[in-house]
Amino acid sequence: MADIGFIGLGQMGGAMSRNLIEAGHRLRVYDIDAGAVAAIVTEGAEAASNPAEAARDAEFVITMLQVGSIVEAVVFGENGIAEVISKNALFIDMSTILPEETQRIGARLAKRGIAMIDAPVGRTSAHAAVGTSTFMVGGAAADIERAHPLLEVLGESITHCGPLGAGAMVKLVNNYISAVVNLATAEGLALAEAAGIGKGIVAEIIGQTPAGQGHIRTTWPSKALVDDPTPAFMLDLAYKDVGLALETAARFNVPLATGAAGRQIYAIARSQGRGHDDWTTGIFRTVRALAGLTE
Ligand code: NAD
Repeated sequence: MADIGFIGLGQMGGAMSRNLIEAGHRLRVYDIDAGAVAAIVTEGAEAASNPAEAARDAEFVITMLQVGSIVEAVVFGENGIAEVISKNALFIDMSTILPEETQRIGARLAKRGIAMIDAPVGRTSAHAAVGTSTFMVGGAAADIERAHPLLEVLGESITHCGPLGAGAMVKLVNNYISAVVNLATAEGLALAEAAGIGKGIVAEIIGQTPAGQGHIRTTWPSKALVDDPTPAFMLDLAYKDVGLALETAARFNVPLATGAAGRQIYAIARSQGRGHDDWTTGIFRTVRALAGLTE
């Protein structure tokens, strides 16, 4: 069983530290919110009065904080982790922060001979509470191997995404897709409601189509993911359908901002001669070309 310093005991960190204690690990915990510390102490943790105290003599030091500037302050600020952390310890940041912040923190720690991995977390605090989080991990394979027993307590999927910062990058991409699909879903359901159709009906239908099930597991595997442009559904028709929705939404004064922007990219795809391509491969090829990505 490991000695762990755990800093940041909010929605995520609180649930995770509880699960680590339950699995038999010894935790010394810190949070600027004394109430959050007290709650975990009643579960069996030892309280620390600053990050350095939590990190002293620990084999693993975990941070679960809101943003990168707080992680940097907790690591390098006064009474920070870097002042005391053992050269044999592993620093694991689980916060959702910029990849370059992760790399900057890692580089400064590496100069002091201290290893770091980034392990941002997919899913929600409800999953963290029952130990079914997903981890996107960046760092050296040996360091990730060391962290595995702890990550296995906290989650049911651990994916090594690449070097330090790669976890943060995958997390950022995941959350971008999730947030934009969330918005498009809201726009679609608002349009249905304005036209007098209830949420339940739409939810039932989109739950059976790529709109609700997600493209990455439905339409993309046999097309965009293998760069096959032969159409299961033509990009021209997707362009037409976004147009039908925009025209109808205008009549009901419903803003479809995602669709309005998206239609421009579909138009570019058509101007590049991709109208008869599969809609997934065609749009992916177009966005990649606009980003200057070569084959
Ligand atoms: P939270 O606000 O609930 O918890 C953050 C904790 O950090 C708080 O308890 C706060 O008091 C503490 N804190 C702030 N400054 C501090 C400092 N200087 N020193 C010590 N403690 C300090 O946030 P959360 O929901 O637990 O999220 C943490 C991270 O995990 C975020 O980056 C978030 O984006 C990410 N995340 C959250 C969820 C979720 O469902 N809540 C899911 C996945 C990822």
